[in-house]
Amino acid sequence: MTSDLLDSLHRPLRDLTLTTNGSRLVEEAQNLRNAGLQRLTVSVDALDDATFRAMNDVDFPVHRVLRGIEAAREAGFSPIKINMVVKRGVNEDQIVPMARHFRGADYILRFIEYMDVGNTNGWRTDDVVPAAEIVARIADEFPLEPVSANYRGEVARRYRHRDGGGEIGVISSVTQPFCGDCTRARLSADGRLFTCLFASTGIDLRTPLRSGASDAELAALISNVWRARTDRYSELRSSATVSKPKAEMSLLGG
Ligand code: SF4
Repeated sequence: MTSDLLDSLHRPLRDLTLTTNGSRLVEEAQNLRNAGLQRLTVSVDALDDATFRAMNDVDFPVHRVLRGIEAAREAGFSPIKINMVVKRGVNEDQIVPMARHFRGADYILRFIEYMDVGNTNGWRTDDVVPAAEIVARIADEFPLEPVSANYRGEVARRYRHRDGGGEIGVISSVTQPFCGDCTRARLSADGRLFTCLFASTGIDLRTPLRSGASDAELAALISNVWRARTDRYSELRSSATVSKPKAEMSLLGG
């Protein structure tokens, strides 16, 4: 079904990417590739199965995801981005094993500081493993050097293995927020435009779309919303902002 959707989308779009938990990649990787998907990101929070399940709400084993990633590589996706959210005391012991497993040109492993997206994940500052600590732990085993950003506003800070073993990234939205360069808008499945990952409400695009608004009218609406935005949640994060109502990740899609 995802591949049918992609097939209808990819022709008018310049770039089409998918972020997935990888649970069905073994079956779908080739279909996704054939349907025009250009880039793929897979969430993997641990190699150890018990830890993987502790970090996720889903009930499937990590080996299924790892097999799916292999199927995606064989289908021609490269490099595949792997996203690992790091939570203190839960999966921090997986940082180096993950870096070891996903070395090489076929993957870009990205470590994401644990964030207070939504209101249901019980986030506390103590849960965060700072990006600088993540880089230091990996560099102890695999010497790293920083790499310049591909473009202004790139979310991940990039590093490469000095021995040519590929690249990693860290997304440090808690300890080093980057709101000033943020270019990400999100559209929910029910047609609301969210201008920040931590917003509580989105702007309704479905109603004008269904009432026949032209492309130019929709473009003007989106551009006016974007110009008027003042989002800088991560720069203002505090114990007071954590309990403020926010949309859940399952609505925003990451
Ligand atoms: S907190 Fe909001 S504005 Fe800041 S980088 Fe994240 S999504 Fe962008």
